[in-house]
Amino acid sequence: MKHLLLLLAACTSSQQSGVGSTPTWIADTSSFTPASSASFVDPYRDAASKIIAAARADRGAFIKLQYLTDRIGHRLSGSPQLDDAIAWAAAAMKADGHDTRLEPVMVPHWVRGAEDAAIVTPIARPIKILGLGGTVATPKGGITAPVMVVKSFEELDARASEARGKLVLYDVAMAVWTEAKGSGYGEVARYRTRGASAAANYGAVGVLIRSVTAHSLRTPHTGAMSYDPTQPKIPAAAVTVEDSQLIARLSVQGPVTVKLSLEGKLLPDAKSANVIGELRGRERPDEIVVIGAHIDSWDVGQGANDDGAGCVIMMQALTTLKRLQLTPRRTIRVVLFTNEENGLRGGKTYAEEHAAELPKTVFAIEADSGSFAPRGFGIETKPEVTGKVVAKVSEIASLLGAIRATKVQASHGGADIGPMVSKGVPTAGLDVDGRTYFDTHHTEADTLDKVDPATLADSVAAIAVLAYVIAEMPGRVDD
Ligand code: ZN
Ligand code: ZN
Repeated sequence: MKHLLLLLAACTSSQQSGVGSTPTWIADTSSFTPASSASFVDPYRDAASKIIAAARADRGAFIKLQYLTDRIGHRLSGSPQLDDAIAWAAAAMKADGHDTRLEPVMVPHWVRGAEDAAIVTPIARPIKILGLGGTVATPKGGITAPVMVVKSFEELDARASEARGKLVLYDVAMAVWTEAKGSGYGEVARYRTRGASAAANYGAVGVLIRSVTAHSLRTPHTGAMSYDPTQPKIPAAAVTVEDSQLIARLSVQGPVTVKLSLEGKLLPDAKSANVIGELRGRERPDEIVVIGAHIDSWDVGQGANDDGAGCVIMMQALTTLKRLQLTPRRTIRVVLFTNEENGLRGGKTYAEEHAAELPKTVFAIEADSGSFAPRGFGIETKPEVTGKVVAKVSEIASLLGAIRATKVQASHGGADIGPMVSKGVPTAGLDVDGRTYFDTHHTEADTLDKVDPATLADSVAAIAVLAYVIAEMPGRVDD
């Protein structure tokens, strides 16, 4: 995802283990309900308690995620594994009793091929790389070129005359996650997305990007890039934080040469689909609350936290309501979007094909930040209603004191639901304790063992309560 969600302001709930009982030094906001001030959420307190208890007692989301990750695995757009994941998700939602269908979407189909890189001089040493998603191949046999290390686009511009014939390495460090600021992902990911064309503009023959992570165990991180159509397309790969720093240290002492070999290529667009599962509203079925995540992943690891977790959170939230026979006034619709990672075709196609329905789409929620302890929600809407929506969703989130997911603020909703924001749909992203999310993001290490079943269940509860109340309350959150 774009993951801008992680540029978040302070969370008052402080440290969170995300499991078990509330430490005595943290106020339990579930009991903080002044008797004198009636709230529009009062009628939903019992339902919220039931949902939270049921979700926390259920390991269904984790069981689903185990199938998706261990049995199907990673699932890049155009791959047979993505087809398998889409078929599995539809069957799983049908088995849980939901109205289920697929909505076809054409998606880009990029394949990686073999990859290899090494420092050639002044030492001979292999380095760990992952081609960036969408990169072109190197000429057959690879390219061997001197490296130019830069720490920013500004430095590249200032030293533009040196770039011709070079492999430009963007050795830019990502800030560690903090409670107050979230992650530094958005600041640094721009070197991955735009770095190749910026360097090609000055005659570079390829780019290397320091992996976009604050912590590394010598694991390269892939991710989306795009080419400026006015510039030559040059190959682009991520190197590990460790190898990036090694090359940077060596280059201070003298020239460094690297050999890079990539085979990435773009094939014709492939057939894919968004997966829909619905709990039809009992009174106003044509009014809709969308709860979504993305079913595709990069072609490494298992896509466990990005974004298998989000998918099963949404699937199980709907199942939790169904089992409790909590059928709200409006329809709740799970949408598992295809192709978030390298094209956003699922999210764009959904907004286009459901355009006539968007005025009655009262809310859209996305989970795409991993399976960590939920903290609350980031709200993204038309600016003129943001304050109102933050206030109403905050009241609803006060029902989530037991899992301490009560923090609501204006932020980023989600990449897949982003195209609905400009059409007037208020949106929210599930905000989680993201301190370790980027450690394995887009790597071979994004695997099921990084997922805590208890915090995954807490996220199911948070989504189910928010979706239920918004689908049940008489008015809209942006009224
Ligand atoms: Zn991603
Ligand atoms: Zn994602």
